Amino acid sequence: MRKYVIMGIQGSGKGTQAKLLAAEFDLVHIAVGDIYRWHVQYHTKIGAQVRRTMSAGELVDDALTESLVRERLELHDWNHGFILDGFPRNLRQAQFFMESYDVDAVIHLDLPDGEVRRRVLARRLCAHCGMDYNLIEHRPAKEGRCDACGGELVTREDDTEEALAARLADYHTKTDPALELFRAKELVVTVDATASKSAVQRAIREQLGLPLPTKKATRTTS
Ligand code: AMP
Repeated sequence: MRKYVIMGIQGSGKGTQAKLLAAEFDLVHIAVGDIYRWHVQYHTKIGAQVRRTMSAGELVDDALTESLVRERLELHDWNHGFILDGFPRNLRQAQFFMESYDVDAVIHLDLPDGEVRRRVLARRLCAHCGMDYNLIEHRPAKEGRCDACGGELVTREDDTEEALAARLADYHTKTDPALELFRAKELVVTVDATASKSAVQRAIREQLGLPLPTKKATRTTS
């Protein structure tokens, strides 16, 4: 059983790295932002509550987010463990998490703000199937169209200059203290996230003492 939290500023590749770890080690990838986006897309009651906050790039209410995480973990579908992505994002959420759960390590992907802006503003998403693109390193074959389904590529509603500035400020004032709490408990492994996808994955596994990716796996994931 492996239980990890992955933390990193937007655009640091935490979703990508979490998915790679989840696939390799049979972990359940729990991405709070994805769960909220699902609610918005399907117009649920929660979706209506969080839509505006999300599109402004702000954090959703703590109590709502904590109950969402608690309910998700209570499903206990994570026989081999989980990787929690996008939670906790502030000190209160970190305290809640530490009181209720234990964790093997917190993976911190470190990326300077300038690089965050460059990466985030290049992000695109297929409006039809949800596949992610990045105009810097993963361009679609046909401009503006999804390679997999031909759907239209759009910018995430919260990937604007304004929303990004709010998220960066939020990250430093709110998420840094959460990271400090984990650091004080000696749970944090910090990885330089400016490197390539496969190099970052390798560094994470080295620091966690996990089996390293084979050459073939590295090629398919970069
Ligand atoms: P993400 O995909 O992780 O960037 O999350 C997208 C949005 O979901 C954030 O900008 C917040 O509005 C909301 N969100 C995700 N995780 C949290 C959290 N732990 N606490 C509060 N809001 C969150």
